[in-house]
Amino acid sequence: MTRLIFLGPPGAGKGTQAGLLASDFGIPQISTGDHLRAEVKAGTELGLEAQGYMDRGDLVPDPILITLVRNLLHHQASGWILDGFPRTLPQAEALDQLLTDLKQPYDSVISLDVPDDVIVERLLSRGRSDDTPETIRYRLDVYRQQTQPLIEYYSRRRCLQQVDGNQGVEQLHSHLHGLVIAAKAS
Ligand code: AMP
Repeated sequence: MTRLIFLGPPGAGKGTQAGLLASDFGIPQISTGDHLRAEVKAGTELGLEAQGYMDRGDLVPDPILITLVRNLLHHQASGWILDGFPRTLPQAEALDQLLTDLKQPYDSVISLDVPDDVIVERLLSRGRSDDTPETIRYRLDVYRQQTQPLIEYYSRRRCLQQVDGNQGVEQLHSHLHGLVIAAKAS
């Protein structure tokens, strides 16, 4: 059973690497950003509520995300990779409680480190509608202020693996694959 949490700034490669590992291990990649974008596209009540925050590069409020993730994890008996959640301390605390309730302990938390200039370059080439130079800078600030404290939160729990994300996709993938195998064996 593999259960992983991916941390890292926007553009660190979380989505790409989580997708590759999800297919390696035959488990779902749960991306809160993808789920929120699908809700926006479908014009649901949740999507309408989330859209303004996402367009500005702000985080969508914690209660919305916590309810979303609770619903997404509820039926996952076979493991998962969380990509883009948690992003705040209240989300991390809610996730701990939820996973205790669901009896689904995670194996490890992987944090991808990438320098800011590389992030900006990568995001601009991705061409997503929320990837303008201004929102990129803003989302990096949001990451530093609200999400970075989670590095400390998980390192105190001794389950954090900090990995250099500034390397090629395949090289990083094989490194992460090895880490996951090692975490499963320990
Ligand atoms: P992402 O695809 O992970 O970059 O997410 C895109 C956008 O969705 C973010 O800029 C936030 O507005 C929103 N979002 C995704 N995940 C979360 C989360 N865990 N907490 C708050 N907002 C989120």
